[in-house]
Amino acid sequence: MKIQANAQEKTQIEELSKPFIEKVAIIGAGLGGLAVAVALQKLGCDVQVYEKAQDFRPIGGGLGLLPNGLNSLDAIEPGIVETIKNSGCEVGKTVLKNTLGETIRTNPVNKYQNKYGQTFITVWWWRLQQILASKLPSRSIHLNHRCIGFEQDEQCVSIYFEHGKQVNADLLIGADGINSAVREALIGDGKPRYLGSMSWRTVINCHQEVLNPGELGFVKGNQEFMYLLNVGSGYISWLYRKLLSDCSLSQKATQSKSRVLNHLAGWGESLRALVEATPAEQILETPICDHLPLKSWSQGRVTLLGDAAHPMAPALAQGSNSTFEDAYELALCFCQASSIQEALATYEQSRIPRTELMQTRSALGEMRYYTTDRQAVEQQMQKQSPEMSGEEFEDWIFNYKPYRNLI
Ligand SMILES: Cc1cc2nc3c(=O)[nH]c(=O)nc-3n(C[C@H](O)[C@H](O)[C@H](O)COP(=O)(O)OP(=O)(O)OC[C@H]3O[C@@H](n4cnc5c(N)ncnc54)[C@H](O)[C@@H]3O)c2cc1C
Repeated sequence: MKIQANAQEKTQIEELSKPFIEKVAIIGAGLGGLAVAVALQKLGCDVQVYEKAQDFRPIGGGLGLLPNGLNSLDAIEPGIVETIKNSGCEVGKTVLKNTLGETIRTNPVNKYQNKYGQTFITVWWWRLQQILASKLPSRSIHLNHRCIGFEQDEQCVSIYFEHGKQVNADLLIGADGINSAVREALIGDGKPRYLGSMSWRTVINCHQEVLNPGELGFVKGNQEFMYLLNVGSGYISWLYRKLLSDCSLSQKATQSKSRVLNHLAGWGESLRALVEATPAEQILETPICDHLPLKSWSQGRVTLLGDAAHPMAPALAQGSNSTFEDAYELALCFCQASSIQEALATYEQSRIPRTELMQTRSALGEMRYYTTDRQAVEQQMQKQSPEMSGEEFEDWIFNYKPYRNLI
């Protein structure tokens, strides 16, 4: 009898001292899912990441990492910015070119370091995915796991995968991108909104002199443009965008490549050569979309993060940078709260107003690329947040600094 009482007491003490989340399931091993996995792992959670892709392939294009995103990553994993710098490229200069490939203007880029104390890095999406994945034990990443739904009650959340597998967790984070299955089950607000332009991007090993080290190129065409990014180790990312009412995707990779080359028919040889040298299956074709901001991202023990929560147009380059802020803050909320409900409520209060403004300004920012009346667009952007001038808005984005590291 005595022994039984002790065992009961012991169980009660264990229950009381148990952290309120132990098992966390994250859907999506993109940049957001991996970043939040690294952060929550630091808090001692048992984190498992489920990704629909069958393997990590060298895909994606170049990504611009700005002070707010880099500060967030460094607060999650001190020293990671140095690793990313070594893998990518620190931007020192922007180069504006015409469609013949001739340089019109160059501008030094020193404001990020001088004004915000952090650099501007361009890096290959895939390399950054690898850097983040390397911070997790391989047993916590499950490829070939497409989430198809979940159910929750007061005890746990059950997550269902294609092929019939089911796992249980204390917390589910939907980091499964703009076409999120978790968002669809949680909110059900349908397909993303097409913003009127298509995008093609890739990374290639480039031996041509289209871009000098440390440069970021922008080629302005007529209702079309191209970004050229150095992403380190002799690799260049090209990203071509065109205003198009038709957002249908090509049936085959070769069609997608021909589409770009047709659009570039009148462009200079040096720029066309970049596309010609790219294997068709490496070109990622995507419509530019977003969703209108949500008022809530969470229910019970399920929440959203990154593009699943606040997909935004790429105009302000805040897609991944705002996602790294989410990852840091979600983990911080779990550090400081005493229940899942409290943590998720604080997470939403802190993240929704900021990302809502980024989403709205990004959608308007898209119009700046194609309009002939830039001033009208600037005025509309100003209306969104009349209390902030353009410069103040930039300060508001880039001055974001986590006040402490996670551990
Ligand atoms: C392959 C790829 C390449 C990209 N390349 C670029 C780029 O070059 N430049 C740029 O600016 N942005 C790029 N992005 C987008 C950019 O990563 C995001 O806008 C931003 O970083 C927010 O990331 P996220 O983790 O929220 O979403 P995402 O990066 O979209 O990641 C979502 C992840 O969830 C997985 N997933 C989706 N549905 C399910 C499901 N049902 N079950 C399990 N897993 C699922 C996806 O395969 C993906 O790995 C890319 C995204 C992807 C997926």
